[in-house]
Amino acid sequence: LGNQISSALANMSNSTIINEETIDTLLKEVGNALSRADVSLKLIIQMRKNIKEQLKLDAMAAGLNKRRIIKKVVFDELIKLLDPGVAPWKPTKGKSNIIMFVGLQGAGKTTSVTKLASFYKRKGWATAMVCADTFRAGAFDQLKHNATKAKIPFYGSDTDRDPVAVAKKGVDIFKKDGAEIIIVDTSGRHKQEEELFKEMKEIETVVKPDNVIFVMDSSIGQAAFDQATAFKNSVSVGSVIITKMDGNSKGGGAISAVAATKSPIIFIGTGEHIPDLDLFDASSFVSKLLGMGDVKGMMNMIADVVPKDTKALEEIASGKFTFRNMKQQFLQILNLGPIDKFVQMMPGMSNIPQLQGDAGNLKLKAYINILDSMSDGELDGKHQITPQRILRIARGSGRHPREVAELVEQKKAFEKMFSKGPGLQNLANMAKGGV
Ligand code: GDP
Ligand code: MG
Repeated sequence: LGNQISSALANMSNSTIINEETIDTLLKEVGNALSRADVSLKLIIQMRKNIKEQLKLDAMAAGLNKRRIIKKVVFDELIKLLDPGVAPWKPTKGKSNIIMFVGLQGAGKTTSVTKLASFYKRKGWATAMVCADTFRAGAFDQLKHNATKAKIPFYGSDTDRDPVAVAKKGVDIFKKDGAEIIIVDTSGRHKQEEELFKEMKEIETVVKPDNVIFVMDSSIGQAAFDQATAFKNSVSVGSVIITKMDGNSKGGGAISAVAATKSPIIFIGTGEHIPDLDLFDASSFVSKLLGMGDVKGMMNMIADVVPKDTKALEEIASGKFTFRNMKQQFLQILNLGPIDKFVQMMPGMSNIPQLQGDAGNLKLKAYINILDSMSDGELDGKHQITPQRILRIARGSGRHPREVAELVEQKKAFEKMFSKGPGLQNLANMAKGGV
């Protein structure tokens, strides 16, 4: 999918004139690619309409880079397809939040249950896992093994074959224990069978989950929409996890899963191990889908709107990224108005909730205040930012030391991004006036 879309975009970029026809051709190619990736026809038609609407060519001011604008509109529309318009479910403090996992066998449920439980545990929630998969031999052993490794309390049974009874018992025990997050793993089947859906409904009835997470293997391709629909029709799916994104799949089926379940993707699985769970970020996802990669997408966008500060870029491209560079970038971004888009594209920043929406601009201002309180030596990277320095900077800027530390982390993330690979290459090109 990604390749098809990016080659459609590349074709457009290479064509010398941009007119209605070029755009129609592009939209047809993008639409075909999406349809081959199981996005429903209805969505594609809607998307094409939206794009055309936004691309009132005549209205585009002369001198703007039309190709860039078109790319950005396609990008934004894909992001829209990934947004079901409902906020992701969040657990509530002071109660037992029950999360039920559903999905076909092999989708990655048990693995993701453990990953999610560890995620919440790391955040300080009292977490527990329940194995209601009595269908597959060895299911309980697998969960037990995972739970032990992650040091998370678990419940299951080697002898009781009634998944509904086991689920209920486990949930009751942990509720009494005062667990704040109770995750119920269920069984799958190889196919979407009536029997499986009946079992899911029964478990849902007794455990009364606050959230049902549908787990989907990213490589299932064509089947995504139907599969997600089948689960949505039997239980009240509220969130989606897409697994095995570390494999070859670009994950185009994810768009179908969102459309079918009308639920947000909350995480993606990126490996077999417990830490291999990433918060879902629509921008990076679409970047990957379009074969752009985060950094490149971000650079292109910055290049579009930020006047080229060649000296700063050369400096960064030479491998030196300082707090001073960071401050310059922040000031430029702030000058552009709403910063959502940028934040979404910045590796390491897109996961900070405080940076989304209007709050983002405030946060950026706070960061700039903090940078204002740094000495020249600190700005130019002549000193390590020690805890003592963090405290001093915090006092000077009137911000919390935690926020100063957060900014230092951000800088490290930028540094990492600029230190190698496409980021550096892009910057080098930008500095040369290329892109
Ligand atoms: P379940 O049947 O839905 O419970 O699926 P499992 O959790 O048992 O996972 C099935 C297989 O997929 C196992 O071999 C897992 O290690 C593997 N797996 C699950 N999630 C991921 C992932 O994000 N990446 C990779 N590479 N493998 C995964
Ligand atoms: Mg399992």
